[in-house]
Amino acid sequence: MNDQLLLTSYLKTLRLPTMLRECPTVARQCSEADASYAMFLQQLAELEVQHRQAQSIERRIKQAAFPVVKELSAFDFAAVPKLNKKRVLELSRCQFIEQRANVVLNGAPGVGKTHVAIALGREACRRGYKVRFFTAAGLANAYHEAREERHLLRLENHIRHMDLIMVDELGYLPLDRTAAEHLFGFFSQCYEQTSLLLTTNLPFADWPQIFAGDERMAGALLDRLTHHVHILEIIGDSYRLNASVTRTRKQAKADKTST
Ligand code: ADP
Ligand code: MG
Repeated sequence: MNDQLLLTSYLKTLRLPTMLRECPTVARQCSEADASYAMFLQQLAELEVQHRQAQSIERRIKQAAFPVVKELSAFDFAAVPKLNKKRVLELSRCQFIEQRANVVLNGAPGVGKTHVAIALGREACRRGYKVRFFTAAGLANAYHEAREERHLLRLENHIRHMDLIMVDELGYLPLDRTAAEHLFGFFSQCYEQTSLLLTTNLPFADWPQIFAGDERMAGALLDRLTHHVHILEIIGDSYRLNASVTRTRKQAKADKTST
């Protein structure tokens, strides 16, 4: 076997696909620059590491199952001046995950709760944390299906392996008794093990409403949830509504000038 074939086979055995792919280019560049053998190897290894890191971020983002792509860089903080930007940026550094603390984003529909939540979740993925996004209804449904199919253990194991679980739209739909119990069980399991990031339109005082009117269940849950919690209130007008009003006005103006 010639040298080239041997090297290809070794790099394949060692599972170093980027080194294999980039080897000719880096070799040429290093020889032109008169770089040392050590420098050549270092550059190749660096490319392999960078590629792997990018791939694992991609994988974590895919596994998180975010419904859409949202980033903090696209969030207009000026639209919600009462939201503390510094605190949001601080949360994006993900220390709360290390501390197994929770985050609750509270606000009316359309103020940007899901946007901020997904942006924080994606940042957590980039920082190496395992994240999973659910809507409250979707999570209740996953429990329902798991129970029917006796897959509950698998679902709970899956949860245990996560660093951050996001539950969006808590309180939008009232849950029936069984769903409320599932969700209660789920949140209890996360207590001090997995961070939770919840978004809700309801103040804590109204949480019994979410849990089938059961004050005791809601109280016990809040007690655990708020033991270590960062609460962010987003107060403002619906961004969605404002955007569509602006769009309609622009359209009306354009229609007027074209006629
Ligand atoms: P909520 O979850 O509070 O109902 P969303 O996060 O779904 O609201 O926001 C509704 C839409 O408006 C989304 O497309 C979101 O990206 C956008 N949006 C909301 N607030 C802002 C903001 N401050 N800057 C940029 N886009 C925003
Ligand atoms: Mg939302």
